[in-house]
Amino acid sequence: MTKTDHILLLAGTFEARRLAKQLSARFSGSRLTASFAGVVKDLPDLDVPTRTGGFGGVAGLSSFLCAERITLVIDATHPFAAQMSRNAADACAALQLPLIRLERPVWTSLPDDTWRHFDTMQAASRALPRGARAFLAVGRKEIRHFTSRDDIFGLARMIEAPPQPLPAGWDLLLQRPSQSAFEEADLLRNHGITHVVTKNSGGGRAYAKIEAARWLKLPVFVIDRPQLPEAETAADIEGVLEKAQFLTDQTGS
Ligand code: NAP
Repeated sequence: MTKTDHILLLAGTFEARRLAKQLSARFSGSRLTASFAGVVKDLPDLDVPTRTGGFGGVAGLSSFLCAERITLVIDATHPFAAQMSRNAADACAALQLPLIRLERPVWTSLPDDTWRHFDTMQAASRALPRGARAFLAVGRKEIRHFTSRDDIFGLARMIEAPPQPLPAGWDLLLQRPSQSAFEEADLLRNHGITHVVTKNSGGGRAYAKIEAARWLKLPVFVIDRPQLPEAETAADIEGVLEKAQFLTDQTGS
């Protein structure tokens, strides 16, 4: 990459944090800008120039890409941040800009696990049996799909508070997931949880609850990932760096 190159890193994940560091080391001659949705107030310091907030759809993103003379977009957003990923794919296709998407491998069940798969949060919510005590690891925007169920107990965990209060008697934990399956098992046990509901986020940082559910033989309701448009993808940080290097070598800059 050259001094005229400018990489846009769509951030919001742990991998994006590590990528920011490694991209700036590997492509030290290029500009790098990281972008956050701005949902979480306590943003990590990536040590690279950062912008925050939506771009304004495909049109806004396209204008940003042109104005900032972006030469490569790296989409390292969460696997469920599908709107951002779709917008990036559309804008890059229209402007003929290279795009690399970091796509963590999905979690998969083991033979003794009891997993049910759902396309939507609504479907998972409907399938919870009356009287269920559900651990809802679903995010502040999605919790609304469960709060109409006045015949279940919900233990909701998310980083930022939801826009609406939870039903009376439910519990809310404002925290990141523990990475200890022992801690997660204690949490599930202490709340008498009967069902675990989770997005299939993949990666190691939110996996402990899956292991804890396995130990406690609890059914897990898994929300499958949204479909995304075709893109050049890499499964991990090293893969993204290799693809970025390949693009650089190809353009001969
Ligand atoms: P989304 O539906 O893909 O994004 C909604 C809008 O937020 C986008 O259209 C875009 O606004 C803006 N946006 C998202 N990521 C951005 C980024 N990196 N830089 C600038 N703008 C960004 O995603 P979401 O509503 O944030 O989250 C959807 C799901 O992903 C939830 O389950 C959430 O828990 C999970 N998640 C998201 C993030 C994240 O950083 N976004 C992190 C962890 C988990 P414009 O259209 O105006 O450009």
